[in-house]
Amino acid sequence: MAELRDLYQEVILEHSKAPRNYREPAGTNHKAEGYNPLCGDRFTVYLEMDGDSIRDIGFQGAGCAISKASASMMTQSVKGKTKAEAEKIFHRFHELVTGHSQGQEAELGKLAVFSGVSEFPMRVKCATLAWHTLEAALEGKQEKVSTE
Ligand code: ZN
Repeated sequence: MAELRDLYQEVILEHSKAPRNYREPAGTNHKAEGYNPLCGDRFTVYLEMDGDSIRDIGFQGAGCAISKASASMMTQSVKGKTKAEAEKIFHRFHELVTGHSQGQEAELGKLAVFSGVSEFPMRVKCATLAWHTLEAALEGKQEKVSTE
């Protein structure tokens, strides 16, 4: 179990050092800014929507390793998905990091590396910030999102 935990930590560190989709896509037509005052994490999520589908996604900003890795992996997992599919993944992810998973973690694939976050309630907001920001961008809201 300790080895598995080390592996998870390695994946999170690797994503935080070299975040994927760390850019503003040229065709961005939705965006939202998220802020977690407890930790100081601050990210902007950019979406290029094609009707109901996420054609392209990117993010920029600064934060702790967990928030940055979560944003990076979030962009990978929802790219090419519909709004409804992305919301479903967020729902499962939220269950996972709050320790309320109902045995459907397999649907999350690589996002399962965040399961350990449920042991650290303060970190849940770090792990979900990018997702809340994605949700706001999908809704087309322009106001800033705060986890507080
Ligand atoms: Zn954080």
